[in-house]
Order: sequence, then structure tokens, then C-alpha cells
Amino acid sequence: MITAAPEPRQPVPRPAPRWQQAWRDAVRDPRELLSSLGLDALAGRVSDEAAAQFPLRVPRGFVARMRHGDPHDPLLRQVLPLDAEMRPATGYGLDAVGDGAARTGTGVIQKYRGRALLVATGSCAINCRYCFRRHFPYSDETAAREGWREAVALIRADTGVEEVLLSGGDPLSLSNAKLAELTDVLAEIPHLRRLRIHSRLPVVLPERIEDGLLAWLAGLPWPVTLVIHANHANEFDDSVDAALGRLRGAGVHLLNQAVLLRGVNDDVEALADLSERGFAAGVLPYYLHQLDRVAGAAHFEVDDARAKTLHAALAARLSGYLVPRLVREVAGDTGKRPL
Ligand SMILES: *Cc1c(COP(=O)(O)O)cnc(C)c1O
Ligand code: SF4
Repeated sequence: MITAAPEPRQPVPRPAPRWQQAWRDAVRDPRELLSSLGLDALAGRVSDEAAAQFPLRVPRGFVARMRHGDPHDPLLRQVLPLDAEMRPATGYGLDAVGDGAARTGTGVIQKYRGRALLVATGSCAINCRYCFRRHFPYSDETAAREGWREAVALIRADTGVEEVLLSGGDPLSLSNAKLAELTDVLAEIPHLRRLRIHSRLPVVLPERIEDGLLAWLAGLPWPVTLVIHANHANEFDDSVDAALGRLRGAGVHLLNQAVLLRGVNDDVEALADLSERGFAAGVLPYYLHQLDRVAGAAHFEVDDARAKTLHAALAARLSGYLVPRLVREVAGDTGKRPL
């Protein structure tokens, strides 16, 4: 009997995970975005120059939460490149929070006692107009570049570091395999007690919270805190609630940090709604940040006097645990500075 020679084994082409497809499928054309919202009339205020400096990028699930036909939609305002960004503003620069000085060239930023922040990646699923990232593509400065070697060596050598913060960019834009590679080496450092992840993905790309990620989280040897980033109650929907519920199911503590942004959340109603909506999804408010003075973001600024008035009104209205701390990051400080 003649048997056929076995077929050479082909690697089975695996489709990219669903979240990566959703990530790639993000809207990148400001005019397409406006058109899909019935806002073609706004196209004249779009700045091609601003979009060339820092492109529009917004996942379709986030677009779906924008209100059709509303030029003042608080989610739209966070992502649309406007002419206002190109107006020079005094006091607004490229390195607003002194990271240039604090960065050691390894992807680790150590500014505060006991904590080391790891710039895990420069990638993000969304481009927020007020972000310092608009001036730092970070291509050379992420800890992933060197296979974490230098970053991990630094943390290992400093026994005062008890908490590692994964930040970026957005650390959850890394694959599960890459994340596991990192935490496997961190797990060998005896003085680490806590892991914190700063990510906007549960809000802007909830597809990311899939089984593989949850399995990674559940297997970590430390208590894990995930600080999400939502600035407005409308950023939550059923898909976000479900993602946050799964994270809590994996034992993750959920906190929110928001940025106080003119035209987005600079009224008591919006801030109270944000705290209450987040809490309903299992998230406690943590920080309300005064804007970093990043060139291109001046039109989002709320002055300190108004910020304090808003914060006092919020505190007078909500349960204490629903009131975020109002802070500003000041270069050279030993922690976030309360206002
Ligand atoms: C914000 C920040 C932290 C964390 O500060 P917490 O007050 O603990 O949230 C740590 N390292 C750096 C470099 C930071 O910017
Ligand atoms: S998600 Fe965070 S890091 Fe990414 S662009 Fe927005 S503010 Fe910047």
C-alpha cells in the first residue's frame, strides 16, 4: 500500500485577536468622523496642521457613544484636531511635567518614593488632544525596546521600590504575551508588593478585556490596581460596564483619573455624573487632574480658581468617597500637588 508523504506542517495562520482588529479599524479621518455624526458643517474648524502633528485616532466603539448632531459633544471634543491647537500659548511647552529630566533613558520614571513608573509602550488606542504624548511618540524610550532588561535591572537594584506602575502610552495595548514576559521577570523581584496599571483601554476599547488578559491578571502574584481614565459619564456604556465587571471579577481594584477639561467636564453636574456613573460600574474616583501645560492644549484649560470652586461644590454634593482629589503635577515635586 502506498501512503502519501505527510504534508509539511504549515503554521496555522491565527487571526489577530478581535481587540486588535477593532484597534486597527479606528477612525483616522476627521472629516469621516464629522460626517458620521452629521456634523459636516464643523469641518472648517478642523486643523490639518494639528492632525499632521498628532493624528486623529478614535475607536469606532467610542465614536458610537458620541451624540449625533451635537457639535459640543464632550467625547468628540477630546479627539477632534481643531485650529485652536495651533495658537501659541505662553506657559505651554513640550515637556510640561518634567519627564525629560526624570527619565533615565530606560523607560523608567522615578519621581515619587516607593514607586517606579514603567513606560511600557508608546502606543495608545486613542489620541486625546490634551495629551503630552502629542509631542513624544516615545519610539525610543519604551522599556519594551530592550526586552525590559535595563528597566527591570533598575527596579531590582532599588529595594525601596514597592510598587511598579505600568504606563505609557497604554500598557494594555501590548499583547498578553508581552505583558506576561514583563511580569514574569518582575515577579522575581522580592521587594515588589503592588502592581498598578494605568490604562484608558477598558473605556475606549473594552474589547481588550478578553479571556487571555483576565487570565494574565488573575495569575499575577501581587494585588493589582487598574487606574482607568474617563473624563465624562457618556464614556461608559454597556460594553464598558461589562469590561469593568470582568476586571473586578479577576480581583482588580478599579480607580478613575480624569482631567479637568474646558468644554468637556468643567461643570459640577458633569463631574458628579462622572463619579456616580463610574461608581455604578465599580470604579472609585481617584484624581481630577489640572491639565498639564502641553503645547496645543491651552483651549482646554480651566483656571485654578474655578477648578477649586468646582471641586468644593462637588465635595458639598457627593459622598466623600465619590470626590476625586484635585491635583496638579509639578516638575520636581515629591507627589501630585493638591490644589
Ligand atoms: C503620577 C505618578 C505616580 C503615581 O502617583 P500616585 O500619587 O501614587 O498616584 C508615580 N510615578 C510617576 C512618575 C507619576 O507621574
Ligand atoms: S489614552 Fe492617555 S496616554 Fe493615550 S492619548 Fe489619551 S491621555 Fe494620552
